[in-house]
Amino acid sequence: MKKFAIIVAGGSGKRMAAQVPKQFLPLNGKPILMHTLEAFHAYDADLQLVLVLPEAQLDYWIELCEQHGFTLPHAIAFGGKERYDSVKNGLLMVQQLRGPQQASQAEKALVAVHDAVRPFVDNALLERCYAKAAEVVAVVPVQPLVESLRRLKPDGGSQAEDRSQFCHVQTPQVFDADALWEAYKRPYRDDFTDDASVMEAAGYTISLVDGWRRNIKITTQEDLDLANFWKSCEAQEKIREAQEKG
Ligand code: C5P
Repeated sequence: MKKFAIIVAGGSGKRMAAQVPKQFLPLNGKPILMHTLEAFHAYDADLQLVLVLPEAQLDYWIELCEQHGFTLPHAIAFGGKERYDSVKNGLLMVQQLRGPQQASQAEKALVAVHDAVRPFVDNALLERCYAKAAEVVAVVPVQPLVESLRRLKPDGGSQAEDRSQFCHVQTPQVFDADALWEAYKRPYRDDFTDDASVMEAAGYTISLVDGWRRNIKITTQEDLDLANFWKSCEAQEKIREAQEKG
């Protein structure tokens, strides 16, 4: 079964208020995006990567790759106005990579869609998502809410909610490639906040697997500080393991 991953980095990352989009900011000395691409490659070296970038950032990305000696093979598609448009462009590239095939001979393929700004995705999480997607059509990793939840009321008040009835949604979301391609033929809607919502609108059932608490979407400076701290913890752990091995 062929595996693909669309890494969406087509946004301008305005919430970080940085000069460059957040996916290019350095994490432990290397752009966030490179950590994310490497994580997928480490999981499966045969997996085909499609990176979705803002067209205006292509030269900058090429420059960064040269600067960091980054040679991991990846196809590039251009970002669109909404995340939905960026994923759609990525899917078009996946279709091109799959090549022309007749429905009767079509090999089942799985496509993950992953936010470039989630560099802590790891082998265990990827295996949970791709393995489940081999059995069902649409897989989404989720995490329980750890803080209490309140609903805001139009009158300015608020009301406690039962947090056990909700979960946080992460990426990678992994899908049957043909089903996702069909679902993305629907016109854009404002409530398409992720790929699962597009699949749901097309009538597909979404299966949930356990996400990972460290798989954060780096959105603010605080997230980036935390991510740098975790990377330094990982580096120390590697040194300890190497010392233990002698
Ligand atoms: O804006 P948000 O935090 O939801 O972005 C999640 C991911 O989607 C980011 O990696 C961002 O680069 C990507 N994105 C995109 N194209 C857009 C908007 C966001 O690829 N038009």
